[in-house]
Amino acid sequence: MRYLEEFQDPRLARRLLDEIRAIVTRPWTLMEVCGGQTHSIIRHGIDQLLPQEIELIHGPGCPVCVTPLEVIDKALEIASRPGVVFCSFGDMLRVPGTGRDLFRVRAEGGDVRVVYSPLDALRIARQNPDREVVFFGIGFETTAPPNAMTVHQARRLGIRNFSLLVSHVRVPPAIEAIMTSPQARVQAFLAAGHVCSVMGTGEYPELAERFGVPIVVTGFEPLDILEGVRRAVHQLENGRHTVENAYARAVRDEGNPAARAMLADVFETTDRAWRGIGTIPGSGWRLAERYREFDAEHRFSVTGITTCEPAGCRSGEVLQGLLKPHQCEAFGTLCTPRNPLGATMVSSEGACAAYYLYRRLGGTPTTAPTVEASPVG
Ligand code: SF4
Repeated sequence: MRYLEEFQDPRLARRLLDEIRAIVTRPWTLMEVCGGQTHSIIRHGIDQLLPQEIELIHGPGCPVCVTPLEVIDKALEIASRPGVVFCSFGDMLRVPGTGRDLFRVRAEGGDVRVVYSPLDALRIARQNPDREVVFFGIGFETTAPPNAMTVHQARRLGIRNFSLLVSHVRVPPAIEAIMTSPQARVQAFLAAGHVCSVMGTGEYPELAERFGVPIVVTGFEPLDILEGVRRAVHQLENGRHTVENAYARAVRDEGNPAARAMLADVFETTDRAWRGIGTIPGSGWRLAERYREFDAEHRFSVTGITTCEPAGCRSGEVLQGLLKPHQCEAFGTLCTPRNPLGATMVSSEGACAAYYLYRRLGGTPTTAPTVEASPVG
């Protein structure tokens, strides 16, 4: 498959690894801020193939994992109400809230439906004018444009029984929060290619300059990630810190102007809490005032939420790159994908799920892993 298998070529992977080995002279710590990249790294054993001087740590790049518990609890409360059809992508249904999840709400009689697009939820709203249809709009700059477009469409068509429960987050403020943390040890970032395909690269040069970190826009296949690492290490070894685009087949500097215009029309920037991390100023989007009537939080006036994080879950440290999943005491015992304690074990992009799925249980591998010739999930 073009643009997929050609970026998984083991021969080219070895060549890139040789190039990285040739330029690295001392330890460097790199962070990827995308759950898709985390899964690709673990699935293909890329972190184990790299020279030992290079450590890859996994940032808060899983959209499901960083959705705050309070918003999950609000979703559970709204979905439990009579007359509501609550629509969501499937991976949110198993994310634990305080004491239950959306699957439990459905088992208790709530009308919770899995959809594949926010437009599916809008169609359900048109077909059921006597019901309140809510779509759970979470995620980074990648999922925000279709959600914005759906709200725009709802207003244009006069569909008043549709609303959005919004918890969108933005990558650049997260990078700033990571770099200003007292525990900061990241020396370069692999920026998420799909985020930049929407937003472009314009927000990153100031961050690279202010914090003295190379930021390399990187794709998701093994060769993409190795090339991102190669460029980041090359900059570090040469004392440079600029923004480079290593995913030029998908990312233009200006991003996607139509998507950005839609975002600017429908959303406005707000402070946003990140699960396990806390509130990051300016790191989220909410509906702009002129679209406020489509805001589910506003429409349903959910108050009195008291949250309680599961005891023993250290996903906050995992999301900040301070802890590897297998270093959590509950990993693989009390916490598994079948019985998850935290969102990072639930989500298909969560770091804990990646470590469990690809049997990264700690210790040193006895044989060198190989780059698989299979698609990244
Ligand atoms: S392994 Fe489970 S309990 Fe531990 S940090 Fe990950 S999600 Fe939380």
